[in-house]
Amino acid sequence: MFQDNFLARYSRQIVLREIGLEGQKKLGEKSIVIIGLGALGTVSANLLARMGVGRIRLVDRDYVELDNLHRQILYDESHVDRKMPKAEAAAERLRMVNSDISLEPVVEDVNHRTIEKLVRDVDLIVDGTDNFETRFLINDAALKHNIPWVYASAIRTYGMTMDIVPGETACLRCFVSEPPPPGSLPTCESVGVLPSITHIMASIQVAEVIKILLGLEYSRELLVVDVWTRDFIKVNVTRKDDCPACAKASYEFLEGRGYKATVLCGRNSVQIIPSKQTDLDLENLAERLRKVGEVKYTKYMLHLAVPPYELAIFRDGRAIVKGTTDESLARALYTRYVGI
Ligand SMILES: [Zn+2]
Repeated sequence: MFQDNFLARYSRQIVLREIGLEGQKKLGEKSIVIIGLGALGTVSANLLARMGVGRIRLVDRDYVELDNLHRQILYDESHVDRKMPKAEAAAERLRMVNSDISLEPVVEDVNHRTIEKLVRDVDLIVDGTDNFETRFLINDAALKHNIPWVYASAIRTYGMTMDIVPGETACLRCFVSEPPPPGSLPTCESVGVLPSITHIMASIQVAEVIKILLGLEYSRELLVVDVWTRDFIKVNVTRKDDCPACAKASYEFLEGRGYKATVLCGRNSVQIIPSKQTDLDLENLAERLRKVGEVKYTKYMLHLAVPPYELAIFRDGRAIVKGTTDESLARALYTRYVGI
């Protein structure tokens, strides 16, 4: 029965010369992690789950909000109403699509303390992030553990993507040697993003993921696409002999360089990351906090409204403080309500 279902479900991929029956079976044995489940990550997760990649870890620290729905394809209004973490919402949706694969939602911040355990046991890393800080971490972890990753980004009407295979291609730091300073790049919040470009970039990314997982020849150029002008430009990127990451194996970002508690630009929010991970008893905390404000909680997170601020507190101790971009005020609120 399983075999019949397998052949039926994937028949259009099995007849596809590029994949075939052997390729399809191989995909079922592969495991990947998708870091970031926004516009790019949800499209990639959607395609890769439907295509039958055997094990998919879904990682995102945030929860679903109304302004995500125009481009983040796995979410709906019920996820917004339920304040679902993106990783859980994505897994919930994809389980309805393909129950033959294993989906592993992880509601966690990706930082230098967490990245290695999130990627070390997979065959490939899919970049669904929206910032360079996390991409530099992915680059270091991928090189250190010899795992290929596929970079993708999109903003306004354009995007970029490139395959990074340790030992074979240039790495991210070969062409962007240092992360751009905070606030120096446009963000989705400030300049917007056309959903078409995120779908295109993620779709191209997925084709590359499949090629690499199947051991086929993959693309070696950086691809730049503008969906508005319909330009597709390929750029050769060469390995730099003095690249600190891929040439000298110095993984500065894994050692905590660049790590900080962050103002979430354009969202009037600050994220607080405690110096040690914890496992908060949210039920207990909810009891405590009912005295200070309106509390809603699920097994994943607690939401506290203390006007004009709101705190979303996650089980690992992390919190997003809304209503301010002042880091010290956010820390003070965290200390006051969560305690350190
Ligand atoms: Zn490099």
